[in-house]
Amino acid sequence: MRSNAKVSSISFDLLNSSQKKQAKQLHHLLAEIQLPELENDCHLSEFPLKVPKHFAKQIQLKNPTDPLLRQILPVNQELETNEHYKKDPVGDLDKNPLPSLIHKYYGRVLLIASPKCDIHCRYCFRRHFPYENQSNNRAWHQAIDYIQADDSIHEVILSGGDPMSLSENVLLKLSQKIESIQHVKTLRIHSRTPVVSPTDAAQKEWLEWAKTTALNIVLVVHCNHPNELSTQTHELFKRYQQAGLHLLNQTVLLRSINDSVDVLEKLSHALFAQSVMPYYLHQLDKVQGAAHFQVADQDALILHQALRERLPGYLVPKLVQEVAGEPFKTPLYELADENGI
Ligand code: SF4
Repeated sequence: MRSNAKVSSISFDLLNSSQKKQAKQLHHLLAEIQLPELENDCHLSEFPLKVPKHFAKQIQLKNPTDPLLRQILPVNQELETNEHYKKDPVGDLDKNPLPSLIHKYYGRVLLIASPKCDIHCRYCFRRHFPYENQSNNRAWHQAIDYIQADDSIHEVILSGGDPMSLSENVLLKLSQKIESIQHVKTLRIHSRTPVVSPTDAAQKEWLEWAKTTALNIVLVVHCNHPNELSTQTHELFKRYQQAGLHLLNQTVLLRSINDSVDVLEKLSHALFAQSVMPYYLHQLDKVQGAAHFQVADQDALILHQALRERLPGYLVPKLVQEVAGEPFKTPLYELADENGI
């Protein structure tokens, strides 16, 4: 059975074991939210359905347009081809000096800490990333040696995948290795786990270590819609704050999910109420399979302008686009000027 097959066109008996597992999960999820008919709109993907319990519980019942559901459902639109959407839209593999390391920007490196995530976001720009051999002890040793040898690197970003999908013990050891490099001053962690699965992100021993380290620790969480925030995320963010972490959020602008000034305004206020500062609003990275999430640049700019009119400056996230090969994230206003939008 080929992968990426439409659920409506296949017989269960012909599926391999991982496809059967995916088909059952999809069936179970749609039964739980009382939308079994959506199965016909879905396919079994090489980037399979994955949704943690906490996130699934935040999905509204009987609502096919629920903004959380739309972020995780492998709909058939993903199978449509579009020549402008690539497997590596941000050029990660051109700046990959070692299997586990991406070195794009001055002074900072990104370490692929884990190939796994607690959730599979359908718009993910790394959904086709070749994670094999990228995050294991050997790869990390090489990465640590690389960082050690370059004293211009003052910040290490743990990403993936999701670093919080690592066991606490492994995350702690990796953090301590980075702490031991004298010229590294900041450890940044990019993680969606605190939002989508807050109980899995409450790493007790790691937080005790965070209270004692001389490193600045920046945790950039990833929340796209106010419905993703909960009393559990609030409790968790309080614990992070008590451990001295700086909390920022990044959001991806997604058509029919959060491309509304009301939703984005509410999101900024809701994040701030949980002590998280809005940081980036990303224009979608054009990854294969995600074209149906794209918001036109002009609409994104109008939306951002409206957001600036409603919010104090400190709650307005920067609207940016990652352009492969550029030495920093590009404000969309600059790109619009260049392209005459
Ligand atoms: S959590 Fe982040 S890395 Fe993982 S699938 Fe979602 S967007 Fe991609």
